[in-house]
Amino acid sequence: MTDVKHMKWWGWGVEGVGFHHEDKPAFAPFVKKAVGLDVWQPAGEQPSFEDLDVPASQAPASLVQGLAAIVGEKQVVTDDLERVIHTYGKSIRDLMRVRAGILPRVPDVVVYPADEAESQRIVALAAQEDAVIIPFGGGSNISGSLEPEKGETRPVVSLDMGRQRRLLELDEGSGLARIQAGALGPDLEKQLNDRGWTIGHFPDSFTHSSLGGWVATRSSGAQSDKYGDIADIARGMRLVRPDGIAEIRAIPSASTGPSVREMIVGSEGRLGVISEVTVQVHRRPEERQIQAYFFPSFSAGLKAMHEISESDASPSITRVSDARESGFSLATSKESKGLSGAAQKGLMAFLKKRGWNLDELALSFIGYEGSPSHVRYQKRIVGKIVRKHGGLGVGAGPGALYDQKKFDTPYLRDFLLDRGAAADVSETAAPWSKLQDVYDTVVKAANGAYDSIGVSGWIMCHLSHSYRSGACLYFTFAFVTGEDKIAEYDVVKSAIQQSFIDAGGTLSHHHGVGVEHALWMEQDISPEGVAIMRGLLESADPQRILNPGKII
Ligand code: FAD
Repeated sequence: MTDVKHMKWWGWGVEGVGFHHEDKPAFAPFVKKAVGLDVWQPAGEQPSFEDLDVPASQAPASLVQGLAAIVGEKQVVTDDLERVIHTYGKSIRDLMRVRAGILPRVPDVVVYPADEAESQRIVALAAQEDAVIIPFGGGSNISGSLEPEKGETRPVVSLDMGRQRRLLELDEGSGLARIQAGALGPDLEKQLNDRGWTIGHFPDSFTHSSLGGWVATRSSGAQSDKYGDIADIARGMRLVRPDGIAEIRAIPSASTGPSVREMIVGSEGRLGVISEVTVQVHRRPEERQIQAYFFPSFSAGLKAMHEISESDASPSITRVSDARESGFSLATSKESKGLSGAAQKGLMAFLKKRGWNLDELALSFIGYEGSPSHVRYQKRIVGKIVRKHGGLGVGAGPGALYDQKKFDTPYLRDFLLDRGAAADVSETAAPWSKLQDVYDTVVKAANGAYDSIGVSGWIMCHLSHSYRSGACLYFTFAFVTGEDKIAEYDVVKSAIQQSFIDAGGTLSHHHGVGVEHALWMEQDISPEGVAIMRGLLESADPQRILNPGKII
């Protein structure tokens, strides 16, 4: 048995760690008021793996033996738990399905290659045996990018990159690091930090997602305003294909036809297995600060973020939450973190006196990195813009809230699911000129969906990444589930995705397409755009063995 560790089969993160609200006194009343859910009720029973009816492995002996000849017997696994772990990602749909034992097609065998050469032999063997290969990084995606196609009659191999986690080479002169694609966030960041460098890519799923997965899903991190999305960070890569290795060298910029590098970014395993990535890295900043600001409304906050994106300041994080999310963030703060209860009360009284409607208050975090003088310079520019839009700096204290929330939120979904509510996220990006309309349209669509199925629901949002031409809006939605939670989820999720497109946004800013979002691809990139993509995927994989069915 391999020693690669995975997340819980039924939820986020590692066994024994979960969300607790006992140290967040305002949380229970907040949820009660928002959706009428009593979070003090005892949790439902922990799902039991023994209750699942796991379809037997259909891997032919020749395939299993062939794989064992490449990687050794210990690294070829056909047991039920491993196969179930490799079936889904971690969207709420995935969690609802796996907990309910909905497992129409499970990979037949999981294989753990040690290096690129072994991956190459595995992919070649799969082509020879007509088996499907699904690359597996951390298993954290939320777009249905891992599940085998329903009714797949060929053997399905999950190729787990978990043994390939090393920093292979650091070119300090160019700030380029060559890293094995199976490295999870903490693996690669530690190896870089030890030498004084950082990748600057910090998705909320950082602890359980891999470099290859980031590239394959076009991921974006919390500090991408400064460091870029993974599409900017990943400068070169190697892709294992049935017929050899596609090598994209790390060149700063090239005019060599349509970019194959860009084709691999976001390919979700459909072009091959990314074995290593050469990423742009940076010296660790001298100073890192997260400052909190309050705005009198979300729209004032949006206008300020827009102006910051046009200014000489280049913050690492620009984030502003709508009133509902601001209320949620303040309610979920630990007593010891952020603003103390007394300070919060005092501040609120002060704002009320100044004529603020506290129900509209929007909490913002701006991150600064660099030399102390650069940080000071940026803070001055931002401070002026914030004041111009009626906002107010509230210091670095609540910045602690930001880090705490990042850690808690992924576990919160399991906590709610255990108590009869489903929560998930959907994100989009749109030009600045359309952002407010996208926001209004999505909130209306979600509330309409809740009404149509008769559930009590909640939607909140923050602007999470800014660009010169627009920004990402990140929505979190939750509802108290009824009789058929997956069907209910479909209604809500579809309404939100459709409203992204209708209002001029994209169907996903950084979670990828998988099967979850595939339905909207033609509306997003046009039928002609889809035809070009189909041509690429079909010609690159005529046997349909590379994670078929994803994206289009
Ligand atoms: P997996 O889930 O293992 O795989 C995803 C897809 O990539 C699959 O199609 C798989 O076949 C393919 N793939 C994986 N590795 C390779 C490889 N080596 N070669 C070829 N294909 C490969 N995403 C963000 O971008 N930013 C966030 O802040 C963020 N926060 C999240 C928070 C939570 C709580 C959750 C559940 C998810 C979040 N995500 C976020 C989504 C997810 O973490 C990303 O999509 C991530 O990039 C997936 O990486 P992974 O290694 O887990 O990939």
